[in-house]
Amino acid sequence: MSLITDQVFHNYINGAWVASQSGALAPNGNPADTADNVGQFQASTAEDAAAAVQAAQNAFLAWKNTPISKRAQIIEKAAAYLETHVDEIALGLTREEGKTLAQSKGEVLRSAQTLRFYAIEGQTYTGETFPQDDAQMMVYTQREPLGVATVIAPWNFPISIPARKIAPALITGNTVVFKPSSETPLTGYYLTKAFDEAGIPPGVLNFITGRASAVGPTLVESPAVKAISFTGSTAAGEQIAKAAKMTTRLQMELGGKNPLIVMEDADLDLAVNLVVQGGFNLSGQACTGTSRVLVHSAVKAEFTKKLVEKVRTLTLGPGIENRDLGPIATESQLNTILEYIEIGKREATLLCGGACPEGSEFENGFYVLPTVFTDVTQDMRIAKEEIFGPVVAVIEVTDYEDALAKANDTEYGLSAAIVTQNPKYAHRFVHDIEAGTVKINRTTTGNLINAPFGGLKQSSTSTFRESGRAGLEFYTQIKTVYRGI
Ligand code: NAD
Repeated sequence: MSLITDQVFHNYINGAWVASQSGALAPNGNPADTADNVGQFQASTAEDAAAAVQAAQNAFLAWKNTPISKRAQIIEKAAAYLETHVDEIALGLTREEGKTLAQSKGEVLRSAQTLRFYAIEGQTYTGETFPQDDAQMMVYTQREPLGVATVIAPWNFPISIPARKIAPALITGNTVVFKPSSETPLTGYYLTKAFDEAGIPPGVLNFITGRASAVGPTLVESPAVKAISFTGSTAAGEQIAKAAKMTTRLQMELGGKNPLIVMEDADLDLAVNLVVQGGFNLSGQACTGTSRVLVHSAVKAEFTKKLVEKVRTLTLGPGIENRDLGPIATESQLNTILEYIEIGKREATLLCGGACPEGSEFENGFYVLPTVFTDVTQDMRIAKEEIFGPVVAVIEVTDYEDALAKANDTEYGLSAAIVTQNPKYAHRFVHDIEAGTVKINRTTTGNLINAPFGGLKQSSTSTFRESGRAGLEFYTQIKTVYRGI
């Protein structure tokens, strides 16, 4: 397989691969190797965005009226494309984003599964019938699509997140304008290509690359846009929610500062493994990543010793070599992480990491050592703010009440875990914790395709969940029908 180097990629509008009206291109880099050029992408304008929205609007009625079995068939064909091209797509994903090749392959295959799930599940997603007194009448609800949906995705899961947004939109009869992150347009291109190859009709799925400042306002504020499914930072989500029309339905999956509690009775080896997995997998760049570890004082010394021992064994390197940690996805994100590390050094006690790795193999990439701080208290910035990197803060707690109060003392509420062998703690935790995803003796990261996913508080400001049947609910509205004979 030859590597894409300087290829020019186009937008996909109304079923055609087209250049931006700006005539300008934006290069896409490789965070493991700054000399590697992953391709040139369209630096789209507001006019391109408007053309994409218009194409989606024009295609809506015909797609809404397309038999659902036909819509499902196209989605299944797109899934088959992803499976057949998994190696090529995973390589592109690793090159532009940095996660390990094994993780990229897993993400591509999971995206194919997501498409298949919605192709089937969407066909059983129905309204309800209502009992009433009049035998001459039938009362039921019918679910209908909303219209044009904008899908705005982040870079950290550049195919699985758009897949779980686009598939439920399409199967329920909506048309889509998809804007990938400017850091990962190649993976977005591959997902769009899968639908193109599957024979999606013109205008039903449109793909547009470019800076949020150029295309964002049109994709968010256009009156034709009836739904926005956004995943990204809480700050960007807030801007979008403020700018969107009142009639536009919002799905907002935002940031996190996820806690994992280690109780005095915990299996410490398990706890260490869960923290390493949740805190350092994907170099800590998961929205559900473990960033705060609340450890009972009775086991803190032993747990911390074991954690540091384990973290020191983790290897770094290009994602393509499948080390434990790949590079950070962008230089600006690396700089943000390094700033937080400096803040952490002033606020708390550094146990390991705390710097970029040394050595020639790291010179051309954006690497940072997995880092653990201890003696962290609630008022510190590293305890409060989302860092989105391989940085874990260890906070001491005296008992369950103290652990719970500290876990909930955050503006976020995405995922939270407890490690304990005591069913009473586990039971209370499920009840007490302010998080949309709750894990017992499991890592804070990871979620199922068929189960709802989302956060509480500032991690998910909309009422709609993603994944599973919740994804279908977001993209449909209800009509109540009173039908006489
Ligand atoms: P980001 O907010 O910078 O960007 C996300 C996407 O939104 C990008 O495509 C970006 O171009 C676009 N965007 C930004 N501002 C916009 C605007 N005003 N109008 C329209 N589009 C706009 O986030 P990121 O750096 O790509 O991703 C990291 C963030 O995403 C972290 O905060 C992480 O927690 C969050 N995240 C959340 C989840 C979740 O499910 N809750 C999953 C993954 C990532």
